[in-house]
Amino acid sequence: MSDFDVVVIGAGPGGYVAAIRCAQLGLKTACIDRWVSKNGKPSVGGTCLNVGCIPSKALLDSSERYEDIQLHAADHGIHSGDVSIDVEKMLARKDKIVSELTGGISALFKSNKIVFYAGHGCLVETGVVRISSDDQADQTLTAKHVILASGSEPVPLPGMAVDNKTIFDSAGALDFRTVPKKLGIIGAGVIGLELGSVWRRLGAEVVILEAADSLLGPADSMIAREAKKQFSRQGLDIRLGCKVTQVEKSKDGCTVHYLDGENNESIDVERLIVAVGRRPYTDGLLDPNCGVELDDNGAVPVDDHCATAVPGVWAIGDAVRGPMLAHKASEEGIAVAERIAVGTGHIDHSTIPWVIYTHPEIAWVGATEDELKSQGIPYTAGMFPFAASGRAKAVGATEGFIKILACRDSDRILGAHMIGSQVSELINEAVLAISMEASAEDLARTVHAHPTLAETVHEAALAAHGRAIHKVNR
Ligand code: FAD
Ligand code: NAD
Repeated sequence: MSDFDVVVIGAGPGGYVAAIRCAQLGLKTACIDRWVSKNGKPSVGGTCLNVGCIPSKALLDSSERYEDIQLHAADHGIHSGDVSIDVEKMLARKDKIVSELTGGISALFKSNKIVFYAGHGCLVETGVVRISSDDQADQTLTAKHVILASGSEPVPLPGMAVDNKTIFDSAGALDFRTVPKKLGIIGAGVIGLELGSVWRRLGAEVVILEAADSLLGPADSMIAREAKKQFSRQGLDIRLGCKVTQVEKSKDGCTVHYLDGENNESIDVERLIVAVGRRPYTDGLLDPNCGVELDDNGAVPVDDHCATAVPGVWAIGDAVRGPMLAHKASEEGIAVAERIAVGTGHIDHSTIPWVIYTHPEIAWVGATEDELKSQGIPYTAGMFPFAASGRAKAVGATEGFIKILACRDSDRILGAHMIGSQVSELINEAVLAISMEASAEDLARTVHAHPTLAETVHEAALAAHGRAIHKVNR
């Protein structure tokens, strides 16, 4: 008899959610994680809670409030005197949020009777997992099913080793004790833009070097162009088509050498963040004889249901194909738990939303306009600007727009693309609409409360049929 029905390796948003769903479905479940927090104690929650989604959003919020008071308080007749930032206090708030949330997951494990093991898990063979740690002898667990949820790590750049003193990865950049005078960032992707925004708002001069000719590769190109315009207006110095070739450390920071087209250029910065993507983390996860082999990208190969080639071994989240997003990892975890327990369970990968928590925020789901064009799918596009929304005016958030793409023949919504305030929340209406196979007409006939930013979604759906109310239709 096995020790457990399910053993999950990794307690990030993929693994811990899978473990909780397994336990809810009556499966005897264990979860293993090797994470050690700053205070030297084991921690659950993975990248997302410890050094990813949550701490970055805490700093984005603090820095946005700081900038908002400076730039906009006076518009409301509020005079606040000299405004200053206490970076240590801001970081302490972020750390408190992290420890409350990770503590909450531990409590959920206890209440769901999930057995947690601190240590490194390795799949030795089908149904056998070895746990090793520095302070205990190895342990072996047996299980009917094993879920691999080992997450990801930053992609390193050759010759630019992260020391978290001068050259930082994203985790290090969430813990700057002072605001750098000049901050360089390699990569204008999600991390570069979010963390660049944080430190610029707090007073750093930020230069982002991006190898590609546009921002945010997977985004709709109209949104990416608008984002570049807005970020540049805020003072983020984003240099496109600039490939970093070498970094030399100096007494005061480092010199970053890069190729701008064919020209050799360089900049001196006090600190440098390397944010050029993430890759699956699978070090020591798989015994060479366990039967599971990695693909060419270093990911664990899985089918549409997250099953590996070995029966009883599943893999989810950043360790497998697809976007590296916490909600994608969690939904895969739930689907796998349900397949193990009841034989069904599904995630629709075509309705996974993206959100970038800059100001303005950026969010999208489904196909981009470029994808529809290249696939020859006839479509209509309905656009509505926040500048024409009463609520957006009232809250001073008039930048950006929403674009709804619908099939010209069936009117089914195929994509939604948003840039503006609170679009991290508004996108979920579009996700539901696409999941329910709604048409632009369905959205247009749905009553939206007034005055809300969500009326912009409504107006964009109306605009897909050329009948937006608060827009001059030409
Ligand atoms: P992880 O969260 O990486 O968890 C994997 C866990 O497995 C870790 O705790 C690790 O210690 C453990 N582990 C690995 N190998 C072993 C082993 N052999 N034995 C035991 N334990 C092991 N995504 C969003 O959706 N929204 C955001 O706003 C967002 N912001 C982000 C901001 C930053 C700065 C970063 C870096 C990432 C962000 N992400 C965001 C991405 C998100 O964090 C990941 O997609 C998500 O954490 C993936 O979940 P996961 O469970 O697959 O892996
Ligand atoms: P990314 O893939 O979003 O962006 C990396 C960027 O670096 C790309 O634009 C790429 O062209 C550029 N680049 C690569 N090599 C370069 C070089 N030598 N010189 C200059 N530019 C170079 O990766 P990221 O920003 O590191 O984030 C990793 C992942 O973490 C994201 O893809 C996402 O899955 C996840 N994440 C999500 C969120 C969110 O959902 N809000 C936030 C942060 C991170």
